[in-house]
Amino acid sequence: MADLKLTGARKSFGPIDVLHGIDLAVRDGEFVVFVGPSGCGKSTLLRVIAGLETVTSGEIHIDGARVTHLPASERGLAMVFQSYALYPHMSVRRNMAFALENMGLRPAEIESRVARAATMLRLTDYLDRKPKALSGGQRQRVAIGRAIVRDPKIFLFDEPLSNLDAELRVATRKELAALHAEIGGTMIYVTHDQVEAMTLADRIVVLNAGRIAQVGTPLELYNHPSNVFVAGFIGSPRMNLLPAMVAADDGTLRLGIGDREIALPRPASGLAEGQSVTLGIRPEHVEIAPDAGMLGVSVDLVEQLGGESFVSATAPGLPEITLRQHGQSRLRRGDVIAISFTPDHLHLFDATGAALAGPDRPGA
Ligand code: ADP
Ligand code: MG
Repeated sequence: MADLKLTGARKSFGPIDVLHGIDLAVRDGEFVVFVGPSGCGKSTLLRVIAGLETVTSGEIHIDGARVTHLPASERGLAMVFQSYALYPHMSVRRNMAFALENMGLRPAEIESRVARAATMLRLTDYLDRKPKALSGGQRQRVAIGRAIVRDPKIFLFDEPLSNLDAELRVATRKELAALHAEIGGTMIYVTHDQVEAMTLADRIVVLNAGRIAQVGTPLELYNHPSNVFVAGFIGSPRMNLLPAMVAADDGTLRLGIGDREIALPRPASGLAEGQSVTLGIRPEHVEIAPDAGMLGVSVDLVEQLGGESFVSATAPGLPEITLRQHGQSRLRRGDVIAISFTPDHLHLFDATGAALAGPDRPGA
């Protein structure tokens, strides 16, 4: 187990800058998830930590020791990839033991480490099988077992569940959470799947185009996104983001949205009349108003999931607005409804996308 520190880590491939200066501290025993859209640099960042790529500039420390220029084999880390990369001709047992044999460990020590990992991963009955006689989920557990037996300072995972079908992905995700609780190792986990990020992480690092957009616990990011990128990325269905103009900020915030004006009973000081802002409101905080409401919209689509419903609605000049309803919706396509936004749950972002005021930032 170990902590990790990145300082100003940059990575370029020729003329292409992929990481633009990453500062990050991961605590001993922490489960940190890197999340972000495809191509934002998640794998590159993980590979830089692993020592599979060298940083163009910046420093990396593991447990206080500078490892910036150490090769991967001397960093004491273990990486699990999306493709299991098992040796097909070796049994499960030997797949797990192989690296330990190369490290020169005593046979009894190897045997006990493999047995312990196999128990944790429910692979004991499969130790003499070849990988091709295993399911996808079992193969990925072998790959994880291979990392565990090495007792690494830090576990690195690059989208390890992406090749599994939906049901197995959920089951293996829960096993990983249990594994972390059991062995308590420092784990860094890359995914583009925000459900994995939300459920596994102690802290999430949201990456956008090679920069950290925000670091925080899952609910900190959900409740208090510090910019419009994180607001739109975390949460499904995504947060509604409506372009708006400050009409007045005189105790009541009045916002021009499309050709309408809505009044919000919450001031946000520091807003100038005429300023362009983005108003953010999550689907569960859009309410159907009994009377005129704030905005009139027309229902385009009702998605019934049984336990909840997602309603997409539009109004001329506005982006689509999604509402989340508890239970089963009575709405139908073509219905015209009035909606209101729960004022306590409004987010405001300035023209650069930075959060101006949100649920946690009254008048900030
Ligand atoms: P992610 O894992 O978030 O999808 P990557 O870290 O794989 O993103 O890639 C980030 C960017 O770096 C992409 O534009 C990718 O094409 C580029 N990239 C990654 N590895 C290399 C490489 N070896 N040579 C050139 N470009 C690369
Ligand atoms: Mg990747």
